[in-house]
Amino acid sequence: MLAKLAYGSRYDRVPWSQRVYVRPAERLFREAQWRWLTGRSPVVPLDAYQRVRPLGRIEEFLSCMMCGESRQQPLYEPAGGDGWRYHVVRCPSCGFLYRNPNVRPERLGDLYATGYNTFLTGGYAANRQRRYDLTMKAFSPVFDEGKQRRLLDFGSGAGLFLELAEQRGFDACGVDLSAESVALANERLSRARTYFGAPGDVPEIAAGGFDVITLWSVLAHLPRPLEDFHRFRSLLAPGGVLLILTVNARSLLLKAYGSKWSGFTRNHLMFYSSQTLRTLLGRTGFAGVAFAPHYGDTVEAGTTKLPAELTARLRRTVDLSDGGNMMRALAFADEEAIGRWGGGPHRIHRLRA
Ligand SMILES: [Zn+2]
Repeated sequence: MLAKLAYGSRYDRVPWSQRVYVRPAERLFREAQWRWLTGRSPVVPLDAYQRVRPLGRIEEFLSCMMCGESRQQPLYEPAGGDGWRYHVVRCPSCGFLYRNPNVRPERLGDLYATGYNTFLTGGYAANRQRRYDLTMKAFSPVFDEGKQRRLLDFGSGAGLFLELAEQRGFDACGVDLSAESVALANERLSRARTYFGAPGDVPEIAAGGFDVITLWSVLAHLPRPLEDFHRFRSLLAPGGVLLILTVNARSLLLKAYGSKWSGFTRNHLMFYSSQTLRTLLGRTGFAGVAFAPHYGDTVEAGTTKLPAELTARLRRTVDLSDGGNMMRALAFADEEAIGRWGGGPHRIHRLRA
């Protein structure tokens, strides 16, 4: 009612995913709401937390993987239509958001065993490929021309990105935990190949020497991110880069919708902000990282129905809050990579181990 009086009906036609970014003063309100929530939610020792939470068959309890803090601040309890439900905690020391209990790494395959493909093809495919194109453009010139550079797409799914990568002239390959997806991908690709399993299982990939590694909507699915990122770092050639697209734990939509946030999907395990991603990259030997704010695919593609004035406000709100719904980052393996590519229009944050 109050919102109605304050905002009138002007914003009713704005899609909910854009509304929080364009309504006057909503950013300040949501940020205050977030400070209130994290300031008043109790912080509990891990053993006390374990006593009150049921532990699923394929689950384990965790301490914060970014800083080692064992205390837990329970915040959210996302749930979905087909009966899944989990608990999201915040690390009181570094702010990392993660599911706790989490999925045991050896049982990760259970999440992707069947039925994942219906989700990865069809109308979804066109939107996905548009998103890949927009992100590659945001980090131009790294992806403009492949020039036979070696590219690894980690979590390559049905091969939608590998298709674009081979078209651009990359010498591309992929790896994925769904055998079904791998088979589907290899049918649609001409030169690029995908493999089933972990990178270490595939000799061609384990040999390393990649110029580019891409993680498209994969980071939030990794139960052992430090191990994985040490491996990615070692698989990169001198001058190599790692591209990451993931949901943003600083999203203004998360602050507005809480447990109902779109980033809390069935298979997501950990939720990064630009800050906690810097910790992960710094601890695993990367030299720097640049972030490209995400304004939403329709805004960036120029197909949004928002009036120009509201589009400009949306962009400002994303910039001021670091709160786009997705996070896009380009990590540099070493100084050579920073020298070769730079951050384009984006600032490069230097990282220290
Ligand atoms: Zn922490």
